[in-house]
Amino acid sequence: MMNHLSQIAQALPEHDLDAILITSEAGERYALGFHGEGVVLVTRKGAHYSTDGRYMEQAQAQVTGAELSLAYTGKGHMSLAKDYMKEHRLERVGFESGRMPVDEYHRWAELLPCILTPAQGLLDGLRASKDPRELEAMRQAQKITDHAFGEILNFIRPGRTEREIAARLVYELLRLGGERMAFDPIVAAGANGSKPHAQPGEQSAAPGMFVTMDFGCVYEGYCSDMTRTVCVGQPTQEMEEVYQVVLEAQKAVLQKARAGLTGKYLDGLARQVMEEAGYEEYFSHSLGHSLGLEVHESPGLSHTSEKPLPAGMVTSVEPGIYIPGRFGVRIEDVVVLGEEGCDNLTRSPKNLIVL
Ligand code: ZN
Ligand code: ZN
Repeated sequence: MMNHLSQIAQALPEHDLDAILITSEAGERYALGFHGEGVVLVTRKGAHYSTDGRYMEQAQAQVTGAELSLAYTGKGHMSLAKDYMKEHRLERVGFESGRMPVDEYHRWAELLPCILTPAQGLLDGLRASKDPRELEAMRQAQKITDHAFGEILNFIRPGRTEREIAARLVYELLRLGGERMAFDPIVAAGANGSKPHAQPGEQSAAPGMFVTMDFGCVYEGYCSDMTRTVCVGQPTQEMEEVYQVVLEAQKAVLQKARAGLTGKYLDGLARQVMEEAGYEEYFSHSLGHSLGLEVHESPGLSHTSEKPLPAGMVTSVEPGIYIPGRFGVRIEDVVVLGEEGCDNLTRSPKNLIVL
């Protein structure tokens, strides 16, 4: 189990906190390497985890480095956390301000004998750099995704609907070892491809259509994410040209991507290729996003991302061109940023595949 309790404890002093309260699913998983349903409190010296009867046996077997308490009707998570805070005299306590519903925040704030302080940045900062075991899980998630792509190529043919292709992707990702989907697969054929986040529907693939598929799975809690656009039958010259521009934009980024650069700079590299080819106005979203326990994490690769990117960050690189009412192309890989360059976790081919 991958727990990060000591990393969190070490980050508390610089954020001027005695402890941090972790209530989200991803936060719990990051802190404990365990997913039940409970509340984690990490202090500078120790940790406390409350969970209920459904998860206690598993928690006792798997959670290390945290004191366990059983939550039950009459003595819930908040009350247990309050006792622990009193006992350990915790005064300044951070919380996951980006993940906690407002109502829940008010209940915690009323009950707890401490100053609750927004601290989303603490966990986001730690979670941005993946350690070797996290990377291993992400490599495996991507491997399953690459494998599913190979399988789906045998399934796509004229007459298959977007919905059928999406259902088959789900089946393959689970069959090949994914725990669940990282997100609902996007499958868009023909003109639907011009909507970057189209929902799979009744449109069927037909000769001369692009089919864009964006999908990923979860392995040991960690996400993969990949997009490929393939052509059913022969593409027109224009379609081929657009495909090449997207591919070149992606390659321009992959050649230069490394830790220490900003998301804004990398986003700009892709945009420059699009602009030179005359397609900049059709690239309607940012270049990419970090991912890990969640499929969208921070920081992102966009024109507003001006901080140097950390080493060990895993990010998507997904330029696209979307021509309204006609077609779209997106190509998405996931890479790890190192000091010298980046390591591409995605192994699926990127030359235009004609089925
Ligand atoms: Zn994607
Ligand atoms: Zn993505």
